[in-house]
Amino acid sequence: MLLIFPNLVLIFPTSIKVSRFAQEKILPKVREMDETEKLDQNILKGLFEQGLMGVEVDAEYGGTNSSFMSVVLVVEELAKVDPSIAVICDVQNTLVNTLFRTYGSDHLKKKYLPKLASETVGCFCLSEASAGSDAFALKTRAEKKNGYYVLNGSKMWITNSAEADIFLVFANLDPSKKYKGISCFVVEKDMGVKVAKKESKLGIRASSTCTLNFDDIKVPEENLLGEEFKGYKYAIEILNEGRIGIAAQMIGLAQGALDNALPYLFQRKQFGSFIGDFQANQHQYAQAATEIEAARLLTYNAARLKQEGKNFIKEAAMAKLYSSQIAERVASRAIELMGGVGFTREFPVEKYYRDAKIGAIYEGTSNIQLSTIAKLMSTKYKPKDA
Ligand SMILES: Cc1cc2nc3c(=O)[nH]c(=O)nc-3n(C[C@H](O)[C@H](O)[C@H](O)COP(=O)(O)OP(=O)(O)OC[C@H]3O[C@@H](n4cnc5c(N)ncnc54)[C@H](O)[C@@H]3O)c2cc1C
Repeated sequence: MLLIFPNLVLIFPTSIKVSRFAQEKILPKVREMDETEKLDQNILKGLFEQGLMGVEVDAEYGGTNSSFMSVVLVVEELAKVDPSIAVICDVQNTLVNTLFRTYGSDHLKKKYLPKLASETVGCFCLSEASAGSDAFALKTRAEKKNGYYVLNGSKMWITNSAEADIFLVFANLDPSKKYKGISCFVVEKDMGVKVAKKESKLGIRASSTCTLNFDDIKVPEENLLGEEFKGYKYAIEILNEGRIGIAAQMIGLAQGALDNALPYLFQRKQFGSFIGDFQANQHQYAQAATEIEAARLLTYNAARLKQEGKNFIKEAAMAKLYSSQIAERVASRAIELMGGVGFTREFPVEKYYRDAKIGAIYEGTSNIQLSTIAKLMSTKYKPKDA
């Protein structure tokens, strides 16, 4: 792997450091956070202290000044222990910080990036009750009035929204332009954001997912992110790379499930043999390990292409699609390999199985990834005038 991705040599110490943090600080709290559906605030503090919430943010803004590949490795390592913590970190790095870094004015970068890298959680507010896969059908409105934009509407399913103080909100500034009216605004909680219902979920239960209401929220003009009417482009571009982060979450999850199951296979005996020595079981874990490796290579390759400024959209969609598929499959297999105990909450593998399901849903469902891949494949063959 190091021959194919030589820059991993420089980044691997990051993985080791994150792995130690995950084992020492996160692991003891995983079960309690899952049961109570609550993020432990000390873990959030630790993510900031370790520099994991501003991985690509420039040092001048208090960030770690590291690479996109580092974000991928951080998310993967965290997900091996708790996919909920991984997505908190992933959204902050690949969506929120990247939007500021790529499109923010100097004023917005100076004002918000130091906070995001050191103590403040942000969230990415695109989806609404009637705008999921069809995200640009969003109904949240922005109106320009006397030096302010006034926002009205609601968002649904927003990761990190219970903890966040900074909200990147996509709203339509001119519905006559349809999706081309969408713009992106930086909204602070104390401008009047109302955090409404918190979802109770199947998996990633320590990660908050809430509905948000915006009633006549006055946003200063300088809090427009980038340019008016470019919001849809920013959302598409950011989600294209964000998907690589979700793929990393899924490969970490799959590895975590397998790593938790394997030791048991060489403790438990049936018919006088370790259950890990039955050929049928050997084939199962060999298959799982192979699928994880394939998904990891897809994910690292998409990250490499993105980092090198090459086309990566198809590869990112493939990485997210395949990683979420193998995560579900490997976690399911890990339960079966362990038999009855795998099905109980005494062992962590059932949680990985529940957590895996989200990979096929957020940041574009699996159908949407397949459509993206097919579209990019077919344009090559279609006549230009078709
Ligand atoms: C835990 C969680 C966290 C989330 N975090 C965020 C967040 O931080 N920010 C944010 O903005 N959003 C977030 N989302 C929203 C998420 O991105 C959407 O749920 C997702 O895009 C799917 O939209 P939907 O749920 O409305 O499903 P729908 O769009 O209603 O889809 C339902 C089914 O129909 C299929 N489908 C829909 N359209 C098509 C089509 N054209 N072709 C083929 N099949 C289609 C889908 O694949 C799916 O199987 C989150 C969601 C969840 C569950």
